[in-house]
Amino acid sequence: MPTTFERLCEHARETALLNSIAELLQWDERTLMPSAAGTYRAEQITYLSGQVHARHTDPRIGEWLSELAESDLASDPHSDSGATIRMMQREFDKLTKVPQSLVEALSRASVLGQQAWSAARKANDFASFAGVLSEIVELKRAQAAAVGFADVPYDALLDDYEPGETTANVTHVLEELRQELVPLVAAIADSPRRPNLEILRREYAISQQQAFGTQAASAIGFDFRRGRLDVTDHPFCAEMGPDDCRITTRYDEHFFSTAFFGILHEAGHGIYDQGLRADQYGLPPGTYLSLGIHESQSRLWENLVGRSRAFWHHFYPQAQTTFPRALGDVPLDDFYFAINDVRPSLIRVESDEATYNLHIIIRFELEQALINDTLTVSDLPAAWREKYRHYLGIEPPDDADGVLQDVHWGAALIGYFPTYSLGNLYAAQFFATADQELGGLDDQFAAGEFQPLLQWLQDRIHGPGQCYSASQLVERVTGKPLGHESLLAQLRTKYTSLYGLE
Ligand code: ZN
Repeated sequence: MPTTFERLCEHARETALLNSIAELLQWDERTLMPSAAGTYRAEQITYLSGQVHARHTDPRIGEWLSELAESDLASDPHSDSGATIRMMQREFDKLTKVPQSLVEALSRASVLGQQAWSAARKANDFASFAGVLSEIVELKRAQAAAVGFADVPYDALLDDYEPGETTANVTHVLEELRQELVPLVAAIADSPRRPNLEILRREYAISQQQAFGTQAASAIGFDFRRGRLDVTDHPFCAEMGPDDCRITTRYDEHFFSTAFFGILHEAGHGIYDQGLRADQYGLPPGTYLSLGIHESQSRLWENLVGRSRAFWHHFYPQAQTTFPRALGDVPLDDFYFAINDVRPSLIRVESDEATYNLHIIIRFELEQALINDTLTVSDLPAAWREKYRHYLGIEPPDDADGVLQDVHWGAALIGYFPTYSLGNLYAAQFFATADQELGGLDDQFAAGEFQPLLQWLQDRIHGPGQCYSASQLVERVTGKPLGHESLLAQLRTKYTSLYGLE
């Protein structure tokens, strides 16, 4: 007879099996699937999602969990069994608190919202999107009320993406970051020094970009025996089993950065997935911790490693050999400055390492105001423009390049945006600790050695899975709570020398 805990784990592993099949179908849909196959593919995925949802809300889970709540297996919340019971209880409570009618209304509004958003963006017509967005805001408030929250309704929404994190704490950290980042970005914008960006827009043959990107991803630790790199329109990383992680990119023959840094970013996500414990696959100890922690791994490899001078000290000769016509006559310092260009811009996904967080802070402030009812949807475009003027010193000429640029709100993803900046903040704080403990990462990168950092991340960040909350993990690994200091110090150091700030 299997024990209750074994039954619970077996059930979760079987759900993960179904989920991983759905992931493979979704990956195929976004990379290789012939266009006419879309309708039947949607049926396949919907069928599997229904099975998965039914399994998640199986009343037996509630019975097993209440039986296990007082057992020895649950006594240490950070042990594998303790974390499994704690996190499955959390998920089960959340899923069973939201009435089925609200789940369906949200799923319908999100489909309609994405369609309305896409049409409104094309037509530059916010008014045509405002109705469905108002409905989404109402439904998200109802969801928060159903799930419950400690302080403000936004807490409940944030918790879906960053479990255990609070609005008050994120507000505190991002506000401190904003206060120092706004003047830093303004000083950079005023600097007379400018990189030559033309060198990144020369001809970079796609086959060579693919070979070079693959080599770099492999060098930093993405395991191609347990993963692949393919082409797509909107790059993503997906795992579909403990030994199968797919990363994707898109190539621009006349712009070096899109594919190269995109590959490093997705490889960073993939390295995290590959670093999770395979024997815990489908269970909380073998599952990624939060969206913010996931993003910290992609940002760390993309920015803190991939945009560092030491990284290019090692890789630049190879880049020049791979792209002799584009880079043969370009000194390393010119290339390094070009890939670290900072300037206030309108579009988040095209923004640089420094201004990116201001784009996020604007969205975080606005979506909180919507949920807390201090801003109406009709006043949103004006509030958006005002914040861009205030934080970035620029203003979008129209809503298509302003409030309508991201799909998130139309897809009912409210509470998601701050996880991007949390990722940058976690990454910076982890990196500073790793640099101290491993004794000078720059020298290692310059020598092409990335294994020590990879191993450090696997031991401290990937291995524990969900055994600690993100804030507990940050304290355990870095010895202090999450703050803005490491990120700001790294940005200041890099840009002070590049832009000749005082
Ligand atoms: Zn990412």
